[in-house]
Amino acid sequence: MLLGDIVKDTTLLFKEKGIETPSLDAEVLISSVLDIDRYKLVSHRDRALDSKEISKIKKYTARRLKFEPVAYIVGVKEFYSLEFIVNRDVLIPRPETELLVDMAVYWGETGGMVLDLCTGSGAVAVALKHNRQDLDVYASDISGKALKTARKNSNNILGPKKIKFFEGDLFAPFKGLRFNMIVSNPPYIDINLKDKMQRDLSFEPESALFAENHGKKIIEDIIKNSINYIKDNGVLLLEIGSDQQEFVRSKGKKHGFTVSVLNDYAGLPRVAVLKR
Ligand code: GLN
Repeated sequence: MLLGDIVKDTTLLFKEKGIETPSLDAEVLISSVLDIDRYKLVSHRDRALDSKEISKIKKYTARRLKFEPVAYIVGVKEFYSLEFIVNRDVLIPRPETELLVDMAVYWGETGGMVLDLCTGSGAVAVALKHNRQDLDVYASDISGKALKTARKNSNNILGPKKIKFFEGDLFAPFKGLRFNMIVSNPPYIDINLKDKMQRDLSFEPESALFAENHGKKIIEDIIKNSINYIKDNGVLLLEIGSDQQEFVRSKGKKHGFTVSVLNDYAGLPRVAVLKR
């Protein structure tokens, strides 16, 4: 079987299944199996595949046909132009979360202490430290399994011991510390929507996606408790759901923050900047 044919066949299978980006998904999966850059698929289309390659491509294709996200199948996801290891213990970094990193890169005080809560794969903390090596970055997650992946990403991308990782519920590991900046992409999807969620989301860790109280529980806990962990003139940056801006504005105000909210590139409210 020729490479060009298997790309065509796989794309068609994905299309028939109703997968949104059939040709992109086919190309990413196949180039991962062959360990070549995606753009080379075209120039190599007359290359004959061996039986091992074909069987691996078929396995990957079968997984995608069950709606497993491409990132979990190939085991990596690009975020902020860096390559992160991902697996089912961690949320797949979303492009809109790059805006949260942009804001952290901008707002981080020179040499300041920064905390990334709910770090998951470590994407936000690692991308931030990669761009702002002056910052002293701490990161935590309630999931020990997620932290294993975060540590790997930090070691691979930044080198050893560049970020201080802690396991625990939100601020629990940080008693007595005060940070210049706190950032977080916490779970914020309404838990009542769990059954209606997109097919792909069902592969991701529920604890990274859903929160009680219509998705507001963890955001509320972070805003409320951050006043004990943030320095005067510090800043809290939160990724929020597109319907949560009014809630975050009023909660922030109640706890003494000045709040502004930025839209993502899809035009939806996405990042809240809360200043003390
Ligand atoms: N933005 C993600 C999604 O809608 C959710 C991430 C989160 O809950 N922090 O899939």
